[in-house]
Amino acid sequence: MADFDLAIIGGGINGAGIARDAAGRGLKVLLVEQNDLASGTSSASTKLIHGGLRYLEQGALRLVREALAEREVLLRIAPHLVHPMRFVLPAEAAERPAWMLRLGLFLYDWIGGRRTLAPRRIVDFGRDPVGTPLKPHLSYGFEYSDCTVDDSRLVVLNAVDAAARGASIRTRTRCLRAERTSEWRLMLDARGRRDVATARVLVNAAGPWLASVAEGVLRQEPALPVRLVKGSHIVVKRMFEHDRAYILPTGDGRVVFARPFGSNFTLIGTTEEDFVGDPAVLSVEPHEIDYLCAVIGDYFRRAIHPDSVVWAFAGVRALYDDGSGSATETTREYVLTLDQEPARAPLLTVYGGKITTYRRLAEAALAKLDGILSIRRSWTARKALPGGEFAPGRDEALVAKARRTWPFLAESHARRLIAAYGTRIGLVLEGVASAADLGPRFGADLTGAEIRYLMRHEWAQTADDVLWRRTKVGLGLAGDERSAVDLFMIGALGTL
Ligand code: FAD
Repeated sequence: MADFDLAIIGGGINGAGIARDAAGRGLKVLLVEQNDLASGTSSASTKLIHGGLRYLEQGALRLVREALAEREVLLRIAPHLVHPMRFVLPAEAAERPAWMLRLGLFLYDWIGGRRTLAPRRIVDFGRDPVGTPLKPHLSYGFEYSDCTVDDSRLVVLNAVDAAARGASIRTRTRCLRAERTSEWRLMLDARGRRDVATARVLVNAAGPWLASVAEGVLRQEPALPVRLVKGSHIVVKRMFEHDRAYILPTGDGRVVFARPFGSNFTLIGTTEEDFVGDPAVLSVEPHEIDYLCAVIGDYFRRAIHPDSVVWAFAGVRALYDDGSGSATETTREYVLTLDQEPARAPLLTVYGGKITTYRRLAEAALAKLDGILSIRRSWTARKALPGGEFAPGRDEALVAKARRTWPFLAESHARRLIAAYGTRIGLVLEGVASAADLGPRFGADLTGAEIRYLMRHEWAQTADDVLWRRTKVGLGLAGDERSAVDLFMIGALGTL
């Protein structure tokens, strides 16, 4: 008998989402991730839970409807990680007649079953602070709702919940080879430690590595063609004082977002170009930075320059190649293929997808396996992710409660902990009765207690795991403070 019902290659949002869903339906699940959870594309997104106005224009009604509806579901099950945000589209620059924008936003508001998110409205840039940083020729725009998400924490919390429901989550474990007979036999390499696991069904959720896993690990061509599309973001010091985001048409059929990021920064992106090469070695090229600075220069009074950039990151989408002329037009729909032959264990492959629709993708993946495995009813729309067991919008009440329980926490510190851990803050601060119990402080409110929690409960092994994926405090730390985190973690390894 196989060790597992389902083995999943890839600990991005799609692999982690499938693992959680499957474990909650009683399946024995193994997830292997060659590096850290969310170390691939799932930490390099624009961090939006959105329908995608642009995809509406491309006629992707099914995708947009599903994504819009997921906003309300994810707000409910992950209220610590997902937050409403208002987006402002300058009307004069939109290269579309105003009636078309109105119609698009009307559809956007209504096809996705919006319930709690605020509806669209017109904004007069002469009266509203949202107009202040913009160039004077822009006089009005449209404002609508979408949501933001902490993408990498969403992945980690899906994995935490999967593990709590019995899944085996193995990070820093690469699947080197998978032999296919009536079951799958996976050769695994955990940083030099080799072992074998068997499974009834295999899922290739390797994102940008999908084709290389198919060819190199499974020794078979992917069933469908894949198009790799790279996108880069830059982060600059906060460009405006209000809490809304801008969606900026670029003149080449695309849009660039400029959105608040943490309390002190603005995140700008993305570029979009076909990618060839190794997704593990991505860099943000100078021409991409110039492009994003130029888009900002078209709209904002205050220009930004390459030397304004404090952080930049790139990610690669692995899209189903539908033969579209450009990367921009290629479908963002997810596609799942099931390869099933007599006497050979089934293989499910995940193409494309969005952070926004990961939960629905997982449901669709399990629906495809119905009949092969015993699949119970879907459940993930109703159960909160770890730490999310509170009503949306109650964050402030949790912050106040945390400060009553741990009066030595500064308000900004308590707010950051609630945004990351929600009701699990008690686990993060377990045994902490005084400021001294928080342990060493590394800058930006990061403490030894939090790092120990992340190592014990969230698979953190390196400073990067902590600073850039499980928190985003890396942006607020100097080089020597980051090295101190590394040293602390090496020391803590032996004591956990
Ligand atoms: P990944 O996150 O890349 O995960 C695949 C994992 O497989 C990797 O961690 C890798 O290490 C692992 N792996 C590979 N080979 C092996 C092996 N042999 N053994 C073990 N592990 C292996 N979506 C939204 O909804 N909202 C957005 O705002 C948004 N913005 C985006 C912006 C950009 C620039 C990009 C590129 C994408 C954006 N997306 C957005 C889409 C979204 O980020 C992706 O669809 C999603 O992250 C893909 O997740 P994944 O799990 O398929 O892939």
